[in-house]
Amino acid sequence: MGQIRILTDELINKIAAGQVVERPASVVKELVENSLDAGATDISVEVEEGGCRLIRVQDNGCGMNGDDALLAFERHATSKVKELCDLDKIATLGFRGEALPSIASVSKVRIVTSDGNPSSGSEILIEGGKIQDVRAAGRGRGTTLEVRGLFYNTAVRRKFLKSRETELSHITGIMTETALAHPGVYFTLKHHDRTLIKSPGVSSILERSVQLLGKDARGNLMELEEGREGLRLFGLISIPGFTKPSGTGLSFFVNRRPVSDRTLRHAVYAAYETLLMKGRHPLVYLFLDVDPALVDVNVHPAKREVRFTDPKRIHDFTRDSVRKTAQGYGRAQEDERPSPWPASERVERVKEAVESYLRTAGEHRFHEERTTGRPAFTGRIQPEPGKPAPAVRALFDKERLVPLGQIADSFIITQDRDGLILIDQHAAHERILYEKFKQVYRLSKIPVQQLLIPVNLELSGKERILLAEHLKTLRRLGIEVEDFGRGTFSVKGVPMWVADMDIQEIVRSLLEEIVALEQGGELDRRMEDIIHVFSCRAAVKANRRLSREEMEALIRDLGETDSPHTCEHGRPTMIRIDLYEIEKRFQRK
Ligand code: ADP
Ligand code: MG
Repeated sequence: MGQIRILTDELINKIAAGQVVERPASVVKELVENSLDAGATDISVEVEEGGCRLIRVQDNGCGMNGDDALLAFERHATSKVKELCDLDKIATLGFRGEALPSIASVSKVRIVTSDGNPSSGSEILIEGGKIQDVRAAGRGRGTTLEVRGLFYNTAVRRKFLKSRETELSHITGIMTETALAHPGVYFTLKHHDRTLIKSPGVSSILERSVQLLGKDARGNLMELEEGREGLRLFGLISIPGFTKPSGTGLSFFVNRRPVSDRTLRHAVYAAYETLLMKGRHPLVYLFLDVDPALVDVNVHPAKREVRFTDPKRIHDFTRDSVRKTAQGYGRAQEDERPSPWPASERVERVKEAVESYLRTAGEHRFHEERTTGRPAFTGRIQPEPGKPAPAVRALFDKERLVPLGQIADSFIITQDRDGLILIDQHAAHERILYEKFKQVYRLSKIPVQQLLIPVNLELSGKERILLAEHLKTLRRLGIEVEDFGRGTFSVKGVPMWVADMDIQEIVRSLLEEIVALEQGGELDRRMEDIIHVFSCRAAVKANRRLSREEMEALIRDLGETDSPHTCEHGRPTMIRIDLYEIEKRFQRK
């Protein structure tokens, strides 16, 4: 070991740059944040070669006088934090005074800035952290900052850069996020001569999203806005049924600062829970506004993470808000959706269209109201105490949906004023049972039906051992099993609505599931999964003919659920064929 030495400022800056400046997009982020902190309403970013050759950010913010402009490149020089206690309530995006010196240490910087005083404009050139030139310059109020040859003096960093396209896509991502978070600000982004973003200021995030996001995302996002005791959550979330194959579409902002946060992420997945198929992800842009004193932003070098003083409260608030909005989808929608036909005409048209459709569908595929003698679906879901009854249900209005028949013994045909609706009987029943089951399970009130003749279980040796271990778990689910010893068991009672199902089969699959789930997780979490399985097994299968009463009950019960549009695996329970579409296919349009 040699001598201990204090690092030179130059070296310290380079080390800090390693943390703050990872790639061109991080430079763009820091510079644009500075412009926002300076109160700019017009921010334009031009880049060349994916930002590796040039990044130029121009703003109309407060600017700086000559002295401040020089100071700004000193380490830990900031105008945003004066005293220690300020750190506890940071309302600006920057606060460490690290970005400018770090960026300047690994590139060639030119700044032209003015605070608006006719004599104050100045221009500074810095290379690798060393000031090359300072001179007076004419400029209106605002700042222009150019960063050329990023990492020109740090070969290692340069090597880690990806292709120009990749770097550019990161820059576009950062700009999109930032522009969403600040809808009132005019943003432009140019790559060489190509304009990638041009978003004049608008008054809401929704309007901003229309400017910024692809057409695909636009029609599939809905607005969220919730508040509770000093917390405000707003933004856009994907409608149930619109999902992405990867989890990269979740963007979070805390006090308008883009962050990656596990608490918020978890809350979103918990909210979508059964609205998502396994392996699918929602798309969300969520903004949380919270008292700056309740969140520590000084925990990550690139300020990409935050720490909440009460994460559970934030988590639950976010989960509940997202859930409420996602589940409300479709309910309030119909009123807003103008129907192209006057009401009286509509009914006639639907009838006609459906009838002709049914004629072509063929007799053997279509069975209308034949009674099978099976009992109708039992029980309605009572609204939980304290939970207001849902206001408007649209897309799916149980009062108006009359079953017209069944196709392939699997899909119920029905109609509303806008067209034909096909309901997947299995998926729909699964949703109904799942919610019903979950509710009674939570209240520990599963209605058990005693069987007149107990069902003796025929089990393998392994299954017997398992069953003996899990009698209690099954009882919590409403399955009463008596253990006669020596591996003989019989089922005496089952939850009411599965009384006519294959009990042997249900118990067996539950056991399998209990074992599979036992690997991890808490019991309650596992119970939810078990309830999934249970409702899936117990739900009426495809290929079963239903009586008219059964169909009516199914539609009615589905209408009572919180999420009538998807089964608990996230698959749709119903599809709609618009009258317009039907008419088009009959070449009436
Ligand atoms: P921080 O943002 O953490 O304060 P920076 O190194 O990013 O640190 O910036 C240092 C200081 O330079 C800021 O505190 C601010 O006073 C000033 N500054 C930087 N960019 C601008 C700008 N675009 N307009 C006005 N002032 C700026
Ligand atoms: Mg800054």
